[in-house]
Amino acid sequence: MSKPHAVLTPFPLQGHISALLKIAKLLHLRGFHITFVNTEYNHKRLLKSRGSNAFDGFTDFNFETIPDGLTLTEGDGDVSQDIGSLLESIMNNFHQFFDELLTKLHESAIAGLIPPVTCFVSDCYMPFTVESAQEHALPIVLYSPCSAGYFLSSYYVSKLFQIGELPLKDKSYLTNEYLDTKADWIPGLKNFRLKDLTTLIKVTDPNDLSLKFATEVGDKCDAASAMIFNTSDELERDVMNALDSIFSSLYTIGPVASILNQTPHDHLEYLDSNLWKEDTKCLEWLELKEAGSVVYVNFGSITVMSEDKLLEFAWGLASSKKPFLWIIRPDLVIGGSVVLSSEFLNEISDRGLIASWCPQEKVLNHPSICGFLTHCGWNSTTESICAGVPMLCWPFFADQPLNTRLICHEWEIGLELDTDVKREEVEKLINELMVGEKGKKMKKKAMEMKKKADNDTKPGGCSYMNLDKVIKDVLLKND
Ligand code: UDP
Repeated sequence: MSKPHAVLTPFPLQGHISALLKIAKLLHLRGFHITFVNTEYNHKRLLKSRGSNAFDGFTDFNFETIPDGLTLTEGDGDVSQDIGSLLESIMNNFHQFFDELLTKLHESAIAGLIPPVTCFVSDCYMPFTVESAQEHALPIVLYSPCSAGYFLSSYYVSKLFQIGELPLKDKSYLTNEYLDTKADWIPGLKNFRLKDLTTLIKVTDPNDLSLKFATEVGDKCDAASAMIFNTSDELERDVMNALDSIFSSLYTIGPVASILNQTPHDHLEYLDSNLWKEDTKCLEWLELKEAGSVVYVNFGSITVMSEDKLLEFAWGLASSKKPFLWIIRPDLVIGGSVVLSSEFLNEISDRGLIASWCPQEKVLNHPSICGFLTHCGWNSTTESICAGVPMLCWPFFADQPLNTRLICHEWEIGLELDTDVKREEVEKLINELMVGEKGKKMKKKAMEMKKKADNDTKPGGCSYMNLDKVIKDVLLKND
């Protein structure tokens, strides 16, 4: 009998590709043939950053591409694409592109080259895949790569638009004061403020593109065979309880980074999804540093900032006098490349390393790392927990404000920087995190959370068992 064959489709941005690739590896390790679908644009970037043969030679693990329907990005194409344009194209074009790929896979299966497709595991932000699964009468599991809290807030808020409770009738509700109020009318999100939730809440035009997209996502989640979340009851209990009363088939399988860390998979180690080329000297540099002495600074793949803000971070880091590893992506600064003054570079030459991209999980798990200055993307957040590293939070958009609230107020393993960040505050909070009393408490809590995450994700743990369950009950149902 041939292997079960899962087709995985991440939303075409770095964080989503990283998240789905982890799921693909876990399914592969449990005996699935994998087809991993990237857009042509991202696959080209992967080959550029990883090497042209990087994806050859893996048995039962294939990469396929579909177009993205966008015009070519200017420059060398080494940037995250515009999210609005992606949303529009996903809604208008991707179903057809994906169907063409499925026809090709079907022909390869008939020719005996691959096993027939038996199931889909898709990013929930690729909603067209649900229609494809229905057309082929195959099970589909949707995966939320964001926090469950953010998923719930978007789902709930888009339903409020559908029943006419939103948009807010009066724009005065968009004041800071109102947005500071607790969202205690949303089950599962009582401890969050309106401004921590999805920005959809501020939408005043019912034809807004992101609202249309969220509505489409919500409808398709209602129709999927099951949903999986990169979280656990330990991390988001109230939210999961609330989601359980809405959806019939939900599985928490997180933190996924920890399941994978505890599963031997040497042969897949080089299968990676970094769209920028990794700078491996980061790890060599960390080797030279004392244990628990370095701040790691990384704002992920989408966050952008003005040059002014970058300088506040730069001088705050320098004045803290702590060793730091700072990843500055080529497209981090709005409107151009970064030029740091020779005065700054001289000042930090004995204790700072600046690179453009790094193997983040290896960095976070390095014994020299003491704290993580992060934008709080959900991958970064969960990877930091899996490494037992406390955080300094500077959220940018999407689920990051909500994740920051979780980190700083629910779990108490982080401190938050003001949006209008200033160098004095950066210096102060870095010191607090690295050597202050609060920092010590947060480190202790972060280590306890790591231990719980390890327990949940090892054989016999809830997340580990949920993964087995969703495979058996949903993905292998037709086998
Ligand atoms: N990442 C990495 N090296 C870097 C920066 C990021 O490997 O220098 C990875 C990181 O480990 C994570 C992903 O890219 O898995 C970023 O996802 P996240 O959800 O944290 O943020 P996003 O980029 O989506 O805003």
